[in-house]
Amino acid sequence: MRDWLHLLGPLAKRNDPPKWFERDDGDARLAHDRRLIAERYPDLKYALNFRLQKVVLRGSITLTEETTRIPTRIRTRIVFQDDYPDIEPIALDDGDHFHHIEDRHFYKQGVCCLWLPLDSQWEKENDDTLLNFVDHVSVFFERQLIYDAGGGWAWGERGHGEAGYIEFLEERFGTRYESIEVFLPLILDRSSINAKAKCPCGNGRRYNACHKQHVDDVKSAIKRHRDTSVFRLLKAVSA
Ligand SMILES: [Zn+2]
Repeated sequence: MRDWLHLLGPLAKRNDPPKWFERDDGDARLAHDRRLIAERYPDLKYALNFRLQKVVLRGSITLTEETTRIPTRIRTRIVFQDDYPDIEPIALDDGDHFHHIEDRHFYKQGVCCLWLPLDSQWEKENDDTLLNFVDHVSVFFERQLIYDAGGGWAWGERGHGEAGYIEFLEERFGTRYESIEVFLPLILDRSSINAKAKCPCGNGRRYNACHKQHVDDVKSAIKRHRDTSVFRLLKAVSA
């Protein structure tokens, strides 16, 4: 892969740190990813975007209607960010096939909102996670086709932004947001508590026998996915 990239000319300025795909581990990862994608998504091809200095996957994902067997090709672009594979790529509806509105889980320029960053299915330790990611993009487009066919958006996805985060907290704690607010300073590291002190929820139990697990769980999810906030995603594609 690196040989192929070098055919396209020097990428970085002399003093720039090497891009992820110019390093040995990144180069090996790229070769591995290419094999996976070529096998399952032959209509997606790797390319280099000179202006953005980013590796992209471009082409189409083909969806076939179950009963009529009529195929629909969705032009797709997947942009790999500088800290790939630690951070998931960005997927776009490249041919404006769909209406890019929030209710349909699209951001500006057709960036697909596959999940809230905190719910990301991206597993950076899993070598095959890119395939899983593109499968999710494919399912996302399929849902958009069903929406266009009048089926609405019926997958109980989270709301956007703040509402989405509130739902996330409610799900993890298994309770209404009103009862979670008391834990926010702990979640955001603005206060600390002794594990043997009484739990802030007020039921009299020790913190470590009560809500500590929930707070720790949410904190580690935030830590894992902080870098993938949608603002960062938008910045990366509109640079
Ligand atoms: Zn509690």
